[in-house]
Amino acid sequence: METTKFYSLPKLPYEYKDLEPYISEEQLKIHHSKHHQAYVNGANAILEKLDKARKEDTTLDIRATLKELSFNIGGHLLHSLFWGNLAPTGKGGGKPGGVFGEMVEKEFGSFERFKKEFTQAAIGVEGSGWAALTFCKQTNRPIIMQIEKHNTNIYPMFRILMVLDVFEHAYYLDYKNERAKFIDAFWNIVNWGEVNKRLEGLLK
Ligand code: MN
Repeated sequence: METTKFYSLPKLPYEYKDLEPYISEEQLKIHHSKHHQAYVNGANAILEKLDKARKEDTTLDIRATLKELSFNIGGHLLHSLFWGNLAPTGKGGGKPGGVFGEMVEKEFGSFERFKKEFTQAAIGVEGSGWAALTFCKQTNRPIIMQIEKHNTNIYPMFRILMVLDVFEHAYYLDYKNERAKFIDAFWNIVNWGEVNKRLEGLLK
């Protein structure tokens, strides 16, 4: 079989109910199966549109098309990273150990300081977006990135160690408009093992 040239929705590494009470089954299910799926479909639709326009040699509104593609691919990739850096309730949270824990202490002075800065970045996203912790290979520093929508303020080439979705669709059913409460809850289910694994992969 030919390998696919389109995106697909990844399976979650846990069940929809596993992040309760921090993220409810209903909230996680709609987030993954509807919202994430919509970005996958959106990106694929644009790829198909590009294929068709090339085949028929028609002209596209390239600015609008690529802007939409960037939004949808960003949405798909960021959600894929997000699911992976969450852990079932009882298996995540606490303080990070390993190389990541050491790196955080060195860069931020303490885990508490990192948590404070990352929380501020997440709370302060204007409109919809993400807080992300990235790693810059040129400086060997972890650097916080505040993403607007799925694709603005990105540092090209920086690898993402962890992300937190602060679109309202991520928390509205559980926390209504209270983004800060959702961010507090996130710290209980962040998967430090996965964050360490991502960092170790970059340091090799
Ligand atoms: Mn989302």
